[in-house]
Amino acid sequence: MPRKCTICAHPEHEAIGAAIVTGTPYRDIACQYGVGREAVRRHKDHIAPAVAKAHEAGEVAEADRLLSTVRDLLQAAIGTITQAEHADELRTKLAAIREARETAKLLLEVNGRLQTAPTFNIIMAPEWVEVRTVVLQALSPYPDARLAVAGALEKVDR
Ligand SMILES: [Zn+2]
Repeated sequence: MPRKCTICAHPEHEAIGAAIVTGTPYRDIACQYGVGREAVRRHKDHIAPAVAKAHEAGEVAEADRLLSTVRDLLQAAIGTITQAEHADELRTKLAAIREARETAKLLLEVNGRLQTAPTFNIIMAPEWVEVRTVVLQALSPYPDARLAVAGALEKVDR
């Protein structure tokens, strides 16, 4: 039987979730909130369902806040790709691409879950169209990453 997640039940689970998606090291989160590092790692998989659940429960503000955190993170990663590109820092650029890809995946996962909710359709939202355009443009010099993201985007757009 799966063990209950100590972070989902934590009174500050929202803050912990935000710390995870903004890339705070697991050990720092574990230390700050007095939870296990493994629990933080496991809880990462609970974030997308949590956003969907908050939305279903009518906690639209919490769902929106989490979602916009993920969007901000994605845009920050894209900004880093561009900066590293100009500074010719290959390692930074590759790390930022990975980060953008992971974040895009999280965003898509959240979106996929929210699609069943009739009142919330991110695909029709102008912000989503903008994010999608920016992501694909930013990734254009990196065909592999672009292809992977474009493929994932196609799946949710259908
Ligand atoms: Zn959890």
